[in-house]
Amino acid sequence: MNVLNFIDGVFVDAIDEQTISNINPATGQIIGTLARSKGLDVESAVEAALNAQQDWSALSMLERADWLDRIADGLEARKEELAQRESRDTGKPLALARRVDAQRSIDNFRFFADFARKREPEVFEMTDATNVVHRNPIGTVGLITPWNLPLYLLSWKVAPALLMGNTIVAKPSELTPLTANLLCEVTSEIGLPSGVLNIVHGYGPEVGQAILEHPDIRAISFTGGTETGRHVAATAAPMFKKLSLELGGKNATIILDDADIDMAVEGAVRAGFTNGGQVCLCGSRILVHTSIADEFTSRLVEAVEAMVCGAPENESTQIGALISQDHMHKVESYIQLGIEEGGTILTGGTREMTGQVGPTSEGAFLRPTVIDGLDHNSRTSTEEIFGPVVTIHRFEYDEEAIEIANSTEYGLAGSVWSGDTNRAHEIAQRIETGIIWVNTWLHRDLRTPFGGVKNSGVGREGGAWSLGFFSEPLNVCIKHD
Ligand code: NAP
Repeated sequence: MNVLNFIDGVFVDAIDEQTISNINPATGQIIGTLARSKGLDVESAVEAALNAQQDWSALSMLERADWLDRIADGLEARKEELAQRESRDTGKPLALARRVDAQRSIDNFRFFADFARKREPEVFEMTDATNVVHRNPIGTVGLITPWNLPLYLLSWKVAPALLMGNTIVAKPSELTPLTANLLCEVTSEIGLPSGVLNIVHGYGPEVGQAILEHPDIRAISFTGGTETGRHVAATAAPMFKKLSLELGGKNATIILDDADIDMAVEGAVRAGFTNGGQVCLCGSRILVHTSIADEFTSRLVEAVEAMVCGAPENESTQIGALISQDHMHKVESYIQLGIEEGGTILTGGTREMTGQVGPTSEGAFLRPTVIDGLDHNSRTSTEEIFGPVVTIHRFEYDEEAIEIANSTEYGLAGSVWSGDTNRAHEIAQRIETGIIWVNTWLHRDLRTPFGGVKNSGVGREGGAWSLGFFSEPLNVCIKHD
């Protein structure tokens, strides 16, 4: 499949007709190409978006909510294809792509449509005046997204941006263009006005950079790594663009002495290895109370060894390929670092898989890995690996668990496992993070704030927070007679 840019409602080549090969990381095979765009392509997308702006923002929010529902219907009608494309692009298990990526991409549009319909007017009464807050569009907004949950994360931005009356220039990761393209096909099929949604494919330093620098793009919503986020902020902040940064994480899974061990093991495996550990929320540092540490660790290793790893299309596969050979080598280098830092590999660290239809040697496969015995301040335990690797750390007192959990530059997510939810709640409040679960993980209510503290980001997404980001509030204060 050759993926083109989608600008002003038309699929077009990059202006200089350059392309990039798209590789399926599970097979190492080239499955198509995508446009390798540059500044001029972004310029043309911005022009289309600016031209579409007035008519789109003239619709009422409820009319735009209806458009979101139509997009959701269009995606739903092609849900299986969506999952297949996501699995081919990322190497993730098809079953996971169906359950998580495809479903959530549809849900994001439905959620924001419903949220708009239930929205209460923002009115603040004074004794002698009434304040009415209007939410005006920002204009043309730039969306830049990563490869780990491609359409899930892109639609999480597209839906609220459209709802609030903005037009869009978006750049998905060049590693995963297929489902962004499917979204364009759907919007084209349903007749979304031309220029409202524009997608420009290509490399970050070429397309992404041009989006950051374009003076007519007034807001940037970015999800990706912390280093790239730093660059995004350094480029866009001096232009006074509105900025939302959803960045990396190194999240703690804290298991207290009174935790239900079955539940905690199941939760730690899910938190550690969902999507091959390539979720920003993954619990890659497991903190366990010394009194249950030995039992927990041996049960964890048993559960990890039972995971089915291999060909993404097998229904039973739980761990597919990593996103690329390069990324696999990066993860392997961290496993090596873990050994050099004094860690013991309890399981994993190798490439052989369990799937019956085995992956080829060109596939970016790595077994889920558990490392014990590392100092909690070691690089392996504090830097984001973003792969199927967890480290285990023991603690004696709750205070110690809190200190270890907070001892990274990140602050995105975490979970606490305990039989006493009040105690867990107390601890949760002392973890420097944006979201934390008690006795569960990645249980999302889309109305709640999502985002990080410290080097995990700036700002929040979700429900009213997304609507707030993608709009400019205008307060009208009307003096009573
Ligand atoms: P990344 O390398 O930072 O890339 C993210 C996006 O930024 C990609 O589209 C990338 O394009 C683009 N980009 C790169 N350089 C750019 C530049 N100079 N200007 C503008 N855009 C540029 O991150 P990734 O490796 O794709 O994703 C993994 C990271 O994302 C992890 O750190 C993970 O924790 C984080 N993440 C965070 C969240 C969250 O909600 N907090 C969610 C998911 C992932 P190219 O692909 O072409 O380089």
